[in-house]
Amino acid sequence: MTAVTKTVLTGGCQCGAIRFALSAPPKKVSICHCRMCQKASGAPFASFADIDHADFVWTRGQPAAFHSSSIALRDFCAVCGTPLSFRRVDGASIEIMTGTFDRPDRLVPTRQYGTESRLGWVVGIANLPSQTTLQNYGPDKVSGIVSHQHPDHD
Ligand SMILES: [Zn+2]
Ligand SMILES: [Zn+2]
Repeated sequence: MTAVTKTVLTGGCQCGAIRFALSAPPKKVSICHCRMCQKASGAPFASFADIDHADFVWTRGQPAAFHSSSIALRDFCAVCGTPLSFRRVDGASIEIMTGTFDRPDRLVPTRQYGTESRLGWVVGIANLPSQTTLQNYGPDKVSGIVSHQHPDHD
């Protein structure tokens, strides 16, 4: 493992047992709709930032890994279960799931893959009735919620 000298982006799992840092921006950010990514993320699609191993380091803890196919592994936090990555066996890069970054707004996808499994409703979500969390829960309920997730910084 090499030390990251200049950190440009950080992130981690929801419990904070696993944290990571990047020393360069991702090479590519993409969405994958394939059936394997749906199962691995527990979500309708997954979103990945592709990073050279040389520009990436786990800064706290080590994730567990599931060999999801003959060509790939998927890292996750063994404590809280947060899905963290997709990486090819012996590949030069790791793809980190963008929802785990402290600033997910900085990871903007430019491609989508696995569209043979893309769920038909995905393209229409911008048109669904929308509420903020505050509008949905109301101020009293929101102010009473205590988060057990790690904050969005080291
Ligand atoms: Zn965790
Ligand atoms: Zn996929």
